[in-house]
Amino acid sequence: MIIILKSDTTEEQIGALTDHIASLEMQAHVSRGTFRTIIGVIGDEASIDSDQIKSFTGVSDVVRVLPPYKLASLEAHPQPSVVEVGKTKIGGGHLAMVAGPCSIESEERMDSIAAAVKASGANILRGGAYKPRTSPYSFQGMGVEGLKILRAVGDKYDIPVVTEITDARNLDVICEYADMLQVGARNMQNFVLLTEVGKANKPVILKRGMSATVQDLLMSAEYILAHGNQNVVLCERGIKGFDSVTRNLYDVAAVAALKTLTHLPVIVDPSHATGRPDLIPACAYAGVAAGADGVHIEVHDCPEKALSDGPQALLPEQFDETFKQLVKVADVFGKTFG
Ligand code: PEP
Ligand code: MN
Repeated sequence: MIIILKSDTTEEQIGALTDHIASLEMQAHVSRGTFRTIIGVIGDEASIDSDQIKSFTGVSDVVRVLPPYKLASLEAHPQPSVVEVGKTKIGGGHLAMVAGPCSIESEERMDSIAAAVKASGANILRGGAYKPRTSPYSFQGMGVEGLKILRAVGDKYDIPVVTEITDARNLDVICEYADMLQVGARNMQNFVLLTEVGKANKPVILKRGMSATVQDLLMSAEYILAHGNQNVVLCERGIKGFDSVTRNLYDVAAVAALKTLTHLPVIVDPSHATGRPDLIPACAYAGVAAGADGVHIEVHDCPEKALSDGPQALLPEQFDETFKQLVKVADVFGKTFG
């Protein structure tokens, strides 16, 4: 960390700062220039509160040398992480195709959709049992009954399953039935939930909040990593924009940017990002071209009867066609869906 002092800072004020830094068991190197004095702080930067330093009299600015997400950063871990979910690998050239309905609705429906996406080549099956709905009157998910269906169908088609956790109190039961957890956009900064997920022994998809910056997303990942769970997959699912032409604003540049900042795998969710089945294929291809380690697509065989997110679901045949093209895009970049 570098502390830049105001030109009129007194020796007494510098002394107060260096004493404070010493009390944190860090070293302060004071460099006096003609116009400005700066203090270089040597030590574990993540443990210093830069706002606290800024509140000292005489401080003009504080510049961090390292990113505040030390575990998630590419600097700390230059090799890409590979997250394993059953037999599926995500990252380091291995691509995930996470597909399935928004909600688990019945065993028959889950079975028919799972059969279709597995036949197309999906390597993770999704389905929500606990749904974070904007309206309390909308379908809230099947809960434990849904988890049991997801597990049974996943076993039948030999495909690992992911489901969303909305409440830390459901952690044990979800871990009993699912192979992977999903923290949704609405809970990306639910730090109590992130802390609990960080103690769980399951890989996790962490979705970007709709108003979260790339750094916010990485700080939320840091919560999970700092509590012990190293198997975190980030997901770009669109952020709030001003144009209603798409449900959200698909931030494909964030995917390319994340690949320069973190070793964690990054997947894209063009279903929630666009809300439009006609745009999902193009946005899926763009995501892989931007460096994504996988794609997340909602699929339903009868969207008009879906209990959530029907309008954005791809039909199984549309999914199949999209996937065939996506395999070719992945091939250009030397990656495979395994
Ligand atoms: C979902 O995956 O169904 C979902 C609710 O996603 P998000 O958290 O991205 O809105
Ligand atoms: Mn959904």
